[in-house]
Amino acid sequence: MRFIDLHTQRDRIRSQVDRKMTEVLDRADFINGSLIPEFEETLSNFNGGGQVVACANGTDALTIVGQAEGIGPGKAVFVPAFTFVASAGAFAILGVTPFFVDIDPLDFNICPESLEVAISEAKGQGLDPAMIVAVDMFGQPARYKELRALADKYDLVLVSDAAQAFGALQEGKRSRLEYADWVTTSFFPAKPLGCYGDGGAVLCRSKERAELAKSIAQHGKGTEKYDNVRIGMNSRLDTLQAAVLLCKLDVFAEELEARQGVADYYGEGLSETVVTPTINEGNQSSWAQYTIRVESSERRPSLQQHMKDAGIPTVVYYPKPLNEQAGFRRYPVVSKGLKNSMDASQKVLSLPMHPYLKKEEIDRVIKEVVCWRRSVG
Ligand SMILES: *Cc1c(COP(=O)(O)O)cnc(C)c1O
Repeated sequence: MRFIDLHTQRDRIRSQVDRKMTEVLDRADFINGSLIPEFEETLSNFNGGGQVVACANGTDALTIVGQAEGIGPGKAVFVPAFTFVASAGAFAILGVTPFFVDIDPLDFNICPESLEVAISEAKGQGLDPAMIVAVDMFGQPARYKELRALADKYDLVLVSDAAQAFGALQEGKRSRLEYADWVTTSFFPAKPLGCYGDGGAVLCRSKERAELAKSIAQHGKGTEKYDNVRIGMNSRLDTLQAAVLLCKLDVFAEELEARQGVADYYGEGLSETVVTPTINEGNQSSWAQYTIRVESSERRPSLQQHMKDAGIPTVVYYPKPLNEQAGFRRYPVVSKGLKNSMDASQKVLSLPMHPYLKKEEIDRVIKEVVCWRRSVG
């Protein structure tokens, strides 16, 4: 059994990928090729609107947004402590201060109450609050309506780090641009929409902002190729990756439904045994991960070992909150503490999740979790 099965999907779309990649080989337009605008338009349509700027990865996408907003030293960016390191690192590299905020214990997403405390504390520490980074953990959209209200109240930019949640629904919509000023995503192979290498995208509402993001992603280019109007990065999406993504977008909606089916089936089998994911009203997760929680941190290693012995792969996302990572320890944290982030990092465990999991495989995972639970009492 695979934790994330890229092989089955590859076999399914292989002939389409071969054909599309051959188109690129024939044209040899490997950088900024004609499939890039085609992909950007297709992604925008899938999202239900918005301007799309393809870039090299999901981390760069966040840095591009930071640069587009002109933030640097002295500015604070509010980031949940329980996330992948890039959510904070992408801004820290600009000299910005990541300010760590706690999460909601049930949905693992940034807690608006903790955020509001953090905003006032940042000001007290002489920092200038600039941006909220909402991470849609494991595929579930954060509480955007409340976050927008806070962004408006304190005049902050609201960014949705949707690396794990591209395609997820909130209030029936795939797009978060109604609330968020910027949405970023990653096409790392293991993400729900992944390519065959690194890739990412920035989404926003206006053409002007998109042009600014594109310029930053391409050496600060102006209207002419060798006209550089600002300092920028080299963060383009390879045309070959756009070829892969175009093929994957054809099956993506169906895959999201299949992931939902897997999650429902897990839920039926496991809800009496462990804490299964909480999905808030109005949300449909893209199920980047199916993450359960055990009741005490001492129990997790025994469950991991039990599953390993049964030949079932599991992963801990994430074993440490960012404030405990060596590179990030010096950054401020909300004074009320990061209790829920700490707790989550000690008790979560992600089970195999992908659209091609077979019923028998899910049954086997459920059976082993239940069997472990009986053995520990
Ligand atoms: C994967 C991920 C990123 C970074 O994406 P890369 O393409 O690997 O740079 C950023 N934020 C979150 C929440 C992620 O899961």
